[in-house]
Amino acid sequence: MLDKVLIANRGEIALRILRACKELGIKTVAVHSKADRELMHVRLADEAVCIGPASSAQSYLNIPALISAAEVTDSSAIHPGYGFLSENANFAEQVERSGFAFIGPRAETIRLMGDKVSAIEAMKKAGVPTVPGSDGPLGDDDISNLAAGKRVGYPVIIKAAAGGGGRGMRVVHSENQLLEAISITQNEAQAAFGDGTVYMEKFLEKPRHVEVQVLADGQGNAIHLYDRDCSLQRRHQKVLEEAPAPGIDPQARADVLEACRQACIEINYRGAGTFEFLYEDGKFFFIEMNTRVQVEHPVTEMVTGVDIVKEQLRIASGLPLSIRQEDVKLNGHAFECRINAEDSRTFMPSPGKVTLFHAPGGLGVRMDSHLYTGYTVPPHYDSLIGKLITWGADRETALTRMRNALDELLVEGIKTNIDLQKDLVRDSHFRQGGVNIHYLEKKLAG
Ligand code: ADP
Repeated sequence: MLDKVLIANRGEIALRILRACKELGIKTVAVHSKADRELMHVRLADEAVCIGPASSAQSYLNIPALISAAEVTDSSAIHPGYGFLSENANFAEQVERSGFAFIGPRAETIRLMGDKVSAIEAMKKAGVPTVPGSDGPLGDDDISNLAAGKRVGYPVIIKAAAGGGGRGMRVVHSENQLLEAISITQNEAQAAFGDGTVYMEKFLEKPRHVEVQVLADGQGNAIHLYDRDCSLQRRHQKVLEEAPAPGIDPQARADVLEACRQACIEINYRGAGTFEFLYEDGKFFFIEMNTRVQVEHPVTEMVTGVDIVKEQLRIASGLPLSIRQEDVKLNGHAFECRINAEDSRTFMPSPGKVTLFHAPGGLGVRMDSHLYTGYTVPPHYDSLIGKLITWGADRETALTRMRNALDELLVEGIKTNIDLQKDLVRDSHFRQGGVNIHYLEKKLAG
């Protein structure tokens, strides 16, 4: 087992990783910016190193500072969490070259999946269903691009190969807009990502976002941990997630779960990962793979009993998977509400001092948060301040627990989106299950 892990992240996920390390008897190193001395995991870690000023570019994204922190503390591995450098292949490469284990896939896998064109190509080869679209990137030849549009059928969506975070995409409704949309997206992608490569997909009008969690040990073993529904999104940011996804066609689901597991073996995947799909009319369409632990991983943990972060640590230690596919049993239903320091209606960030924090409790209630009374939420980072997760033997019970838990949750001194979450868990369409990815924005607009 790894001896000492440096946690290259902050907030709730840093605390989550610290807890998993402690359970496995692994020593921990917290790294933090000057604005983050007060973080809960910094107090709880065995060692703490300040890696730079408040700005992420000079701290949590500062590769030389992170590697020297690992050196001075004699760490054996680096856990990148999510966001920041978690999907940066150059970082993974430099970590491993410097003699530390990177807790994630090999750099070449991150690179393969980071380019959406090569990711889709690899998935097609592995038998994972993808969105109908251009075969590879679009070139400069107008005639063949127009032909691709005709073949795929309008509406189509032009997407940057290097895109992320919902940026670098443009929907095209008719042929006469196509060429202009391609060149605008190419220019934007070049400016934003340093890579102007774009490709075309059929634009699905009312899909759900359903994703599959996997674990693989890079030694030929891979399992899936079933699916999650993350369709409630605002500006491509997930707001409320659940596992399993409700009302999915059983055969399509069994097929896609097995295809994901096989794809991991095919690409010799190592670590935790997520295959993201759009699901429409009973069919799955792969859109991208996330090569890291995700914010919403707890809902999967609640319904499978598998500790995903502990498995990441075991895999990075070179151990084979501790669980076989046939041992993974789905049990009950779970929801996660993301709690953000932002206004429930305007979504304006609301950093500041938390004058009172009270976490809900009881059977089937889990709060993953670094908050405490007196903590000051700094203005420099993502507004996520916690995740409230509930489990129940069935969907209705888990949802009732979420309603009650949200009523118990108190965060005072700053604005939060708790009122929005209270509204969502009482929404009649959401309660029925299976709303599509446009539902939340339509509801907010209406
Ligand atoms: P990113 O890496 O920026 O998150 P994705 O490829 O995951 O990009 O797409 C982000 C979101 O854009 C999806 O969750 C979905 O809402 C929308 N989207 C992407 N591709 C399509 C498509 N072919 N049809 C409809 N919506 C799409």
